[in-house]
Amino acid sequence: MTAASISSIDSPVTSSSPSSGAGTAGGPQAGIGERVLIQELSKRYRNTVALDNVSLEVGAGELVSILGPSGSGKTTTLMIIAGFSEGAYSGQVLVGGRRIDDLPPNRRGIGVVFQHLELFPHMTVEDNIAFPLRMRGEPRSVVQQRVGEALELVQLSAFGKRIPAQLSGGQRQRVALARAVVYSPPVLLLDEPFGALDKSLREDMQAELRALNRKLGITVIHVTHDQAEAMAISDRIVVMNKGRIEQVGTPHQLYFNPESRFVGSFVGESVFIDGAAGKPAGQGRCEFRSRGGLVLQGRVGKPLAEGQEAALMLRPESVRLGAEGAAPGASLEAVVVDTVFGGERRMYTVAAVQGGEHFKVSVPSSALSATPLAAGERVHISWSPDEALILS
Ligand code: ADP
Ligand code: MG
Repeated sequence: MTAASISSIDSPVTSSSPSSGAGTAGGPQAGIGERVLIQELSKRYRNTVALDNVSLEVGAGELVSILGPSGSGKTTTLMIIAGFSEGAYSGQVLVGGRRIDDLPPNRRGIGVVFQHLELFPHMTVEDNIAFPLRMRGEPRSVVQQRVGEALELVQLSAFGKRIPAQLSGGQRQRVALARAVVYSPPVLLLDEPFGALDKSLREDMQAELRALNRKLGITVIHVTHDQAEAMAISDRIVVMNKGRIEQVGTPHQLYFNPESRFVGSFVGESVFIDGAAGKPAGQGRCEFRSRGGLVLQGRVGKPLAEGQEAALMLRPESVRLGAEGAAPGASLEAVVVDTVFGGERRMYTVAAVQGGEHFKVSVPSSALSATPLAAGERVHISWSPDEALILS
């Protein structure tokens, strides 16, 4: 991908109806954003199925992150939307209700920031940002004004005369972001744009992106493999696995109601106990029998048949030390195996006395906390049965 082709994705398809998609599900603000609809996308590379029937709706002004492990089809999805897909695919892409599959990238009204950002090295920051406007023959006064606004938006007004080599990594990313939005495209696509930055810069850029999305109302589809990043900035998250969408939901929904073990293990930290579903226990719960013979209870996400192979999922912060007032099937006796001090919390790994399964317990810490438990000590652990999720 050359810098020229990145920068040429600039002209809105529907400049005459900038907010026709506003007000659809998830759009937090009426602005320049358009609704993006992808329908039944499938794509193969020789023997690899990169995408397998992927459909998704992103509301006007919504910020959606596509989250998934390497090779799950995130970049392929983005490239198809942007118009840079190599070779054929099936399915369709609509922006603001219009099909864009046959439009060249520069007429899709989509700004793109790629994984490996490429600014023109010999051009000043101003000229880099002005490039998409000049390509379109905008008059000098317009170019000057828009570039000024874009620089202000990413807080780089004092850096316009520098060349990229005179900027930090984070500043270069902000220039790329400014260049992608200088044309006010209704849609902005980003492919792991902050992956190379250190933690604090990455957090700054996440806040920047969120602010941009809020200020302009621009629709943002952001690809990442960093679940904390997706949780922090997204209206909704799309979890992909092996070319398919596993689940779509708000960060809260994905965290507390994962529909599969894959999603539960990908978003946040959890412990999974293998076993089988037992009898219904009322209140949306059922019994669970672990391989080691523990009889527990948990909340049922998707319906399960009695005897069906299943896993009980527990977040470490849902488990507490002690068993006072514990509900049936939601406590057990264990032995401390390991303890890790993480600053704000301490994480214990414990093994059930009966069965030997490992559980994790995350306890908030403070300077006044009691002396931590040591390996080999016996403890009781307990949790609310509604915070134990039984998944197929
Ligand atoms: P992600 O961005 O989630 O890491 P990709 O969309 O890049 O995943 O890739 C999805 C699948 O398609 C992977 O199995 C990958 O190896 C394959 N793939 C991607 N691009 C090509 C290509 N140009 N040629 C062959 N296979 C590819
Ligand atoms: Mg990728």
